[in-house]
Amino acid sequence: MTAERVPVRESLRDVEPYGAPQLDVPVRLNTNETPEPPPDAFLSAYVDRIGTTSLNRYPDRDHVELRRSIAARHDVAVEQVWAANGSNEVIMQLLQVYGGVDRTVASVSPSYSMYPEFCRTTQTGFVEVDLPDTFEFTAATAAALAATGADVILLASPNNPVGNVIDQGHFVRLHDQTDALIIADEAYVEFADGDCSVVPLVAKLPRLVVVRTLSKAFRLAGLRLGYLVAAPWVVADVQKVRLPYHLDSLKQIAGVVALEREPEFLAHRAMIVAERHRMVAALAELPQVEVYPSAANFVLIRSTVDELFDRLLARGVLVRDFSTTRRLQGCIRVTIGTPDENEAFLTAVRDVIVEATD
Ligand code: PMP
Repeated sequence: MTAERVPVRESLRDVEPYGAPQLDVPVRLNTNETPEPPPDAFLSAYVDRIGTTSLNRYPDRDHVELRRSIAARHDVAVEQVWAANGSNEVIMQLLQVYGGVDRTVASVSPSYSMYPEFCRTTQTGFVEVDLPDTFEFTAATAAALAATGADVILLASPNNPVGNVIDQGHFVRLHDQTDALIIADEAYVEFADGDCSVVPLVAKLPRLVVVRTLSKAFRLAGLRLGYLVAAPWVVADVQKVRLPYHLDSLKQIAGVVALEREPEFLAHRAMIVAERHRMVAALAELPQVEVYPSAANFVLIRSTVDELFDRLLARGVLVRDFSTTRRLQGCIRVTIGTPDENEAFLTAVRDVIVEATD
């Protein structure tokens, strides 16, 4: 035996690990985090609670106390809630259960680039329906998704990287017109101007699963905590694939303590939303830039300026580059940061446009 390494399975051979660059630059607006740290009161309450934990013991496998807190947040039963390490893991667990070699997931394009990756990892088929050029989710989009006959329909609302919301009626129609599991990924829903979450529809639509996260509006991206709200049978099914003790004790406590302080955690949301409106208005004024409407904490823009991403980076502003992604040629996505960071971004964009047209 002389082999020095074992080849990965065929479907992973040419794969690059997913991830936005983590660069140390003055203005980082590329991963849709919230710029403000969690409230100070959270950290001291969390540290106090850690003192009562027995780290020599495994955590509660079913994380019941945390699920109770989440259930109370959404006025649902604890049996309807399940949490994991970020909403990425929640979706992955759902596909481990309802995906697989003989199953297909349908989504739209453009959307969250991890969706095809989750499918690849779980050996699930993946089909995409193109959104129209405006990137709005229309009745025709819903009809095309239903026509795929997919076992799972996976949709982000607000969509990422586009930023727009899918009308609630489309979720109802998709549920009525298919036998699929309908997953609504609401990672950014707290940033929408009105309450547009489809969590209340879970009571009426048994195959609807809503996925949420504490990484975005809850400003706990470093904690890695996401969850789903669904019918109890979904939660029972997901338990078949979860690793035992997948949520560590410290995270379970942090989640409970954070959810006790929801108003404090979400207090900064008004600033982010106001800044998004300001950014959209300012960008709409610029030549060579097209802005897509957004209900999230980021904005997608398309520009005819060459190498916009690199030119911004040269000015110390890191955004997300989509310029080589299908249907997103010339696009970047900018996360809404602090007013100062947003101003730095706007100044850099204006400079770049002047430089490029000189
Ligand atoms: N869904 C969408 C649409 C996202 O943009 C992200 C984060 N980029 C996630 C899910 C995953 O978030 P997390 O795992 O941090 O909860």
